[in-house]
Amino acid sequence: MGDPLSKHGSRALRPATLLVHGGGTRSPFGETSEALYLTQGYVFDSMEACEARFKGDDPGFVYSRYGNPTVAMFEERMALLEGAEAARATATGMAAVTASLMSQVKAGDHVVAARALFGACRYIAEDLLPRYGVASTLVDGANLDEWRAAIRPETKVLFLESPTNPCLDVYDIAAISTIAHENGALVVVDNVFATPILQKPLTLGADLVVYSATKHIDGGGRCLGGVILGRKDLIEGDLQQFLRQTGPALSPFNAWVLLKALETLSLRVRQQMQSAARIADFLAAHPHVSFVRYPGRSDHPHADIVKKQMSGGGTLVAFEIAGGKRAAFAFARGLEVIKISSNLGDAKSLITHPATTTHQRLTPEARAGLGVTEGLVRLSVGLEDADDLIEDLSAALSALDRRGLAAE
Ligand SMILES: *Cc1c(COP(=O)(O)O)cnc(C)c1O
Repeated sequence: MGDPLSKHGSRALRPATLLVHGGGTRSPFGETSEALYLTQGYVFDSMEACEARFKGDDPGFVYSRYGNPTVAMFEERMALLEGAEAARATATGMAAVTASLMSQVKAGDHVVAARALFGACRYIAEDLLPRYGVASTLVDGANLDEWRAAIRPETKVLFLESPTNPCLDVYDIAAISTIAHENGALVVVDNVFATPILQKPLTLGADLVVYSATKHIDGGGRCLGGVILGRKDLIEGDLQQFLRQTGPALSPFNAWVLLKALETLSLRVRQQMQSAARIADFLAAHPHVSFVRYPGRSDHPHADIVKKQMSGGGTLVAFEIAGGKRAAFAFARGLEVIKISSNLGDAKSLITHPATTTHQRLTPEARAGLGVTEGLVRLSVGLEDADDLIEDLSAALSALDRRGLAAE
């Protein structure tokens, strides 16, 4: 085994190169492709060696709940890509979110989160934390005054995702980080929708970044996974202890799939984004589409913030089919290439109806407050030929006329 912390030569390398070579650790066999270390534990030559390893005097792996060479390669590659000092992988994106929040608070503390959150993240902030004595306040993430007003002396963490699910609102990460730091709180950003290719929350002032690697990082709909990135002191403090003792460890097999998937992340995200931009423009001009929300368009309500903090509009498009739920469902029935699924970031284009799936748990009033209307659909643009996707969307929208479902 080589040095698991070895960097890549003397020069700073660009993301596409780091995604191929970063974090690679060769065994004495000199394999070209990264090795899969499917092992729970490690053997030692002597009790003395084992003691030294456990005491931390001898760097190396102890037990795969704590660390594993394949998982470490994935963490290292992610850290290099994100420009983070350290990273820890988890079994799922939700394990990453839960650990990043729970490890930073105790009973009596307070968390502020943007109201527009991935459903399970909203459950953690709104329902789970309060059960353990950690109060939480949900705010309109676009309104900086609401963030400021929600902060209390005991506020420890501000939590947000941007762009948001499913309406693709974009929040000012730098401004929210400044508010947090003026009040001694940390900022945790769920960067799934932006991907590490298009937005770097740590450079904007965030303290921790979390990903569901299940999405664009895998990109092939195979594995669940998650990762948390940030400064060494934060990652190796309470967070590392929380992960080691509660055990949401990423399987080495899944780490290996995700590590290999990273090699093509930049290519995939850029191609998917290029198609998403074309599709957003096509939809915006279509009479059966009442509005389109795409961060890469100049009519996006937060276009100025997008320009400041993202290097592209992303791979998702939200739009409303005129005619409500019945029209939205009929439209989805007309799709042949685009599949119905609640996942995103996949090579396959996927469409979902948030009001009846990811946001079903919320009251109609809460949904309306988030802009999740009955006609709203979220499209995750995949790697298919954009012309085929546009033809698929066009045919499904035209079919609404034949079915007599098209609203004005
Ligand atoms: C999918 C997702 C998660 C949860 O990730 P899992 O891997 O499904 O646990 C969290 N946040 C966002 C924004 C997501 O899209």
